[in-house]
Formats: sequence, C-alpha cells, structure tokens
Amino acid sequence: MLIAGLGGGLSEAMTAGDVVVATSVRGPDGAEIPLPGAALLAGQLRRAGLRVHLGPVLSTSSVVGDLSDADGLADRLGGGEPDLAVDMESAFLFASGQVGGLSDGVAAGPRAVLRVVLDTPGRPLRSAGTPWRAARALAALRRSAPAISAWAAATGPREVLLAAPRSFCAGVGRAIEIVERALEIYGEPVYVRRQIVHNAHVVDDLRQRGAIFVQEVEEIPPGSVAVLAAHGVAPSVRAAAAARDLQVIDATCPLVTKVHTEVRRYASRGSTVLLIGHREHEEVVGTRGEAPSNVLVVEDAEQAATIAPVDPDDVAYVMQTTLAMDEAEQIASVLRERFPSLSAPRRDDICYATTNRQMAVREIARQSDVVLVVGSQNSSNSLRLVEVAQRAGAAAYLVEDAGEVDLRWLAGARRIGITAGASAPPQLVDELVSALSGLGPVTVREEEVIEESVQFTLPKEVS
Ligand code: SF4
Repeated sequence: MLIAGLGGGLSEAMTAGDVVVATSVRGPDGAEIPLPGAALLAGQLRRAGLRVHLGPVLSTSSVVGDLSDADGLADRLGGGEPDLAVDMESAFLFASGQVGGLSDGVAAGPRAVLRVVLDTPGRPLRSAGTPWRAARALAALRRSAPAISAWAAATGPREVLLAAPRSFCAGVGRAIEIVERALEIYGEPVYVRRQIVHNAHVVDDLRQRGAIFVQEVEEIPPGSVAVLAAHGVAPSVRAAAAARDLQVIDATCPLVTKVHTEVRRYASRGSTVLLIGHREHEEVVGTRGEAPSNVLVVEDAEQAATIAPVDPDDVAYVMQTTLAMDEAEQIASVLRERFPSLSAPRRDDICYATTNRQMAVREIARQSDVVLVVGSQNSSNSLRLVEVAQRAGAAAYLVEDAGEVDLRWLAGARRIGITAGASAPPQLVDELVSALSGLGPVTVREEEVIEESVQFTLPKEVS
C-alpha cells in the first residue's frame, strides 16, 4: 500500500511543497524496509510538475522539533545514507502489518511512501510562515493524487519477460572500453566527438570519469587525445582532426566501417550509391560523407519508388546498420524491382546485434501486454525495437530508465516484456525489474532467441 502525508524535510535545499519519495523507510529500531518501486512513483510525480526528491525516510516515535540535527538522528539509528525526510508513521504502519503485506518483517506486497515537505531545518514548525507553508504542502499533496491513483492501478502480481539478447552489443562495449582505456593510459582530459554511443547514462558516466564531450573537433585544443564515436565519421572530420594535430583514437564500430568501405568501393567505379537510412542520423551523415556526390539517401519505400539516379543501370545500395529489418527489406525490394542491375552488399548491412535484438523483442512482444524498451530517444536501434514490438501487436514504449515509465501503461498489464537497445547499459534493465517489484510480486523469465559471442579487438592506441 502507499502511505502519503506531510513530513519534515531534512535537507536545506528543500522547500515546503517538495515531495520526498522514499527509497527505504527506517524505524527507531534501525530496521530498514526497502521500497524498490520509488523511481516509478517519483517519475509519475515529476511529470505532474512536482519537485521530487528520492531517498530514505526516517520514522520517529516523537515530533522532531529541530530538523537541523538530521545527522544526529541518523547517527542514533546507526548511520547509513542520509535521510531526506522524517515522519511519524510509515515504519510503524509497515511493521504493524496493516499495510504492505508484511510477512516475517519483510514487506512483500506493493508498497510506497510519499511525504510532502512541510518544515525544513531552516524553517521549523514553530516559525513565522508555517500556515503559508502548510497550505503549500497540502496543495502539493492534492496535486499528487492522480499519480497515487495511477500507482494503485498499476499494482498487482506480474510476470516480466526479458528479451535476450538485449542491451550492449560488441561495438558499443568496444567504444566505451576505448574511452575508459584512453583515460587510463593518457589521463584527463580525453575529448570525445559527439556522444560515444547514443545513451545519456553512458555519456554521463564517462563525463564523470573525465571524458569531455564536444560536437566538433574544432572545439578540441590542438594536440589533445580525441576519440571518434561508434557511429563513424566522414573523411572531412578526420582531415579536420589531422589539421589540429589531434591524437585520434577511432571508436567507429567495425561493422559501420564495413559500410563505409562498400560506399568507397562503389563510388570509385562511378556508381550511384543508394544509402537506405535516416538522413539526419550520425551514422548516415558519416557514411554519406565518404562520397557525397555519389550517395543518395533513401529514407522510405516512397522515396525508393521515385528516386532518380543519373544512370539507372549503374546503381548500388547499402544500409544504415540499425534499421528495422522488415522495413529495410521492403525499401530494398522496391529498389531491386526498379533497378534490375542493382549491386548489393555481399551480406546485409544491418548488423548482427540489431537483427538479434529485433528477433528477441518480436518474440516477447507476442507474449506480453506491454513492452518497455530501455534506450535513449536518439538511439536508432532502440526506436526500431519499439516499432518492431508494436508491429508484433504489443503496446510498446521507449524509456530512458525506470523513472520514465508512465504507471498508467502498467494498469492491468500482467505480463511485461523488457528489452534494451544496443547502447543501453544492462544495469538499467536490472533497475527497471527491481522497480516493478515495488508494485507487487514479480516472476522473471528470460526468452533467449540466439546466443551472441561477437567481440571486436581494440585499436592499437589503447590495446
Ligand atoms: S549496433 Fe551494430 S553497428 Fe551499431 S555499434 Fe552495435 S554492433 Fe556496431
């Protein structure tokens, strides 16, 4: 069950009306009850426009007059992560077994705690302005009601079906390792042109470890170590890097490099190259840059039906590596029909990881009420996983992490499929499964469609 009410905020950064969603609740005896679904409720409240903090909540048996002694309170209970709010009932209600389906002291049912901040260390209860702060806090509590209703409707036992393979591919793993090793070998700063892979969590993590992300090589000080991202770059970018005397480490995925090589080969013999892909995607921009006057981008079947190469008898096609297989094949078949002498790559350009993840998501989508795809909005292969799942008949959504799951999607959904794009870290999937367990008992089953063992070697600069 969900316990909601007012509480004392323990951080100076809080103001009345802020909401604390508890990641755990601690009682006066120090016993801690974990609340794994906190990120789901916090996300719902944030989307409602509330200012939300996530962290532990402390339940005390008496009114705490001086909230500025938060450290003292925590110390008396054995230390640990600093508490964010204090109340007088959550731990007691859980411990009494009246809420949360307690068994043997462990909360097993759906459970959550939400406290709206009334007083803070700087603004205690007995200080001027308390009535105004109380009105503000009660208004925030009222505004929380739709999120609380959505949480309640989303509770219940469910099965989670994990697609396999999912998450990092060999090219992404290699690119991340290149930056990590460059930091180890060369020290900070290591510059990275564009997002090393299309995932905000990966980029944030590497940034915290010393990587500096830039849009263009012109922003990098001459002579610096510079990593080129996994999606590949046009030769003009390499030339610009050389002109600045940068020490370049190329993290382009070898499977993207293969497509660049194909374009150069076709262009060198004078053919027009039809590049099936999304015009603005970085991989397509880089691939097209190999021979801009020879390459025409084809984004969909409609364009395939009308595109007009200079010589229709001397045409080849290549593909962006992260397209939806079925859609790409549809476009290629239009081109094959229109241009009978069309040259094609020896092997399909859509990479093994894209193919495998799409097969796996199709399998789980067939069996699931809802499919959640973990990935960033600018991740092409993650977006394609959503589309493949939708075409297989499931409601499917792309989420950066558990905090982006709209609880209304989960109402009545007893089987939830989960996968992750090739650039999404596996721990985000673990966190999402854990968050779902805060809504009720979860059983997890993995559906593996194929085993992956692909590995790429590192470039000599970091091996
Ligand atoms: S999705 Fe495919 S092409 Fe892209 S980095 Fe991964 S293995 Fe390479």
